[in-house]
Amino acid sequence: MKRIIYLAFDHLHRDFGALKQANSKDDVIALVESARMTTGRNWHKERLFFLISSARHFAQSLREEGFTVEYVKAATTIDGLNIISDKHQSLPIISAEPSSFRQFAALKEYGVSFVENDFFLTPRSLFHSWASEQKSYLMESFYRKQRTRLNILMDGKEPIGGAWNFDKENRLPAPKKYDGPPYLEHQRDEIDREVGVELGHTLTTNWATTRTGALAQMKNFFDNHFAEFGPLEDAMTTENWALHHSLLSPYLNNGLLHASEVIQAATDAFHSGKVPIESAEGFIRQIIGWREYVNGMYWFLGPDYRNNNQLEAERPLLPLFTDPNKTQMNCIKETVSDINERAWVHHIPRLMLLSNLALVTGTNPQEFLEWMREVFIDASEWVMVPNVIGMGVHADGGRMMTKPYAAGGAYISRMSNYCKPCKYDPKLRTGENACPFTTLYWDFLDRHKETFAKNHRMSQQVFGLNRLKDLPELKVRAQEVLKGLELGQI
Ligand SMILES: Cc1cc2nc3c(=O)[nH]c(=O)nc-3n(C[C@H](O)[C@H](O)[C@H](O)COP(=O)(O)OP(=O)(O)OC[C@H]3O[C@@H](n4cnc5c(N)ncnc54)[C@H](O)[C@@H]3O)c2cc1C
Ligand code: SF4
Repeated sequence: MKRIIYLAFDHLHRDFGALKQANSKDDVIALVESARMTTGRNWHKERLFFLISSARHFAQSLREEGFTVEYVKAATTIDGLNIISDKHQSLPIISAEPSSFRQFAALKEYGVSFVENDFFLTPRSLFHSWASEQKSYLMESFYRKQRTRLNILMDGKEPIGGAWNFDKENRLPAPKKYDGPPYLEHQRDEIDREVGVELGHTLTTNWATTRTGALAQMKNFFDNHFAEFGPLEDAMTTENWALHHSLLSPYLNNGLLHASEVIQAATDAFHSGKVPIESAEGFIRQIIGWREYVNGMYWFLGPDYRNNNQLEAERPLLPLFTDPNKTQMNCIKETVSDINERAWVHHIPRLMLLSNLALVTGTNPQEFLEWMREVFIDASEWVMVPNVIGMGVHADGGRMMTKPYAAGGAYISRMSNYCKPCKYDPKLRTGENACPFTTLYWDFLDRHKETFAKNHRMSQQVFGLNRLKDLPELKVRAQEVLKGLELGQI
């Protein structure tokens, strides 16, 4: 039977989703570049470029395979599907289950039928059964189950290496003067140039826009970075923009790579004996643990979860998030500049700098979420919502994480080289040179001490707060810092 196969821009894999069983004789492939996706918000141009150019390259590869491909630009996805459906005698439309509640509802209402979304290793129903049995949704418990279920890095029932995690080995600070192997540069072709011109975007070589490029990126990671991934995975340094991170999230999220391919390559590299267990475990945990857990939680927690604001944080987004010249905090200036350049920083700047700042300043979670969605190359609704609302700013009252990831300047100073040239001193909590993170960390604990007093995992922090002799002075400084941040002067 002839069909239209609707291909969302995050389903770009020939062997998964609705394309898995497609045949070029009968099926029409539909891709829609909707204005909703490209305009109306302050999307990072690098992000738009990556998504659109990848989709156009993928469409081209399907045409080369003999498919009839309809790639249309329209106001919305549904408008685009209308155009394609009119042209093809209203054939039935099928799609892999979309990756957000909003798209799911819109396509369902339009009459699209779905095949299971197999872009993850864990079916949504399987995650739901796991989560339904939990008192608290600990990622660690989910991860151990995944290791056993998928039989990855296992020796019978025991984890290879004798431990489930190697956090102690994997928390090294930033090395001094660290070059590391070079990153892959991705060459541009005619399609890239066409998209660049349409977007008014100066082309960079950071991100691949083809399956071949994504595979080359994966190979580069496993050949040159994997062995050192673990120990430095939390470190931050201005001397090296990605250290040994894989830079694979954009391709995993738009479908150019599938998690099973990345895991296969990781386990092959480990079993070849070239990679220590702490790096292999640390990386595999990210893919079969965190990534799957976050996706599962998005579907489990439901569409209203994104609106949580249980700490009643109402401050508008600070100007420093959009303009690094609006702050003298070196860590934030460097991080926002990096994002402006590449639409990417690794998980620790996302969590311990950007989200931490939003958390301790009481920035409105939804405003912060929207900004994060706009600026990151790999941002999608399913991944940003749990990461920001649950993990980043603790806006869900602890449903996902048992305690907030709030930290003062001491953590940042230990894990990075940001603090030495900074105007502020991470050790000081009061006075003009006090590190804003340090001041606001204590102020945050004080503002929410009644809520956190009930949380036994926070008792040490609350105990520390109660022993502060200079709390009144600190509260005054905190107000100055908040005002200065609002004005873009701190
Ligand atoms: C506040 C916050 C927001 C984030 N937003 C996103 C996002 O929009 N999109 C996104 O893909 N990741 C997000 N992450 C997770 C993580 O920061 C990125 O996946 C990672 O930095 C991407 O770079 P990499 O591919 O080099 O990752 P690596 O460090 O090499 O890790 C390997 C892979 O693990 C997966 N992974 C690791 N942690 C997570 C996680 N918490 N959630 C989902 N996948 C994970 C990614 O697919 C990543 O490619 C966020 C984390 C935080 C704390
Ligand atoms: S002193 Fe504070 S503001 Fe400055 S770089 Fe360090 S953590 Fe950031």
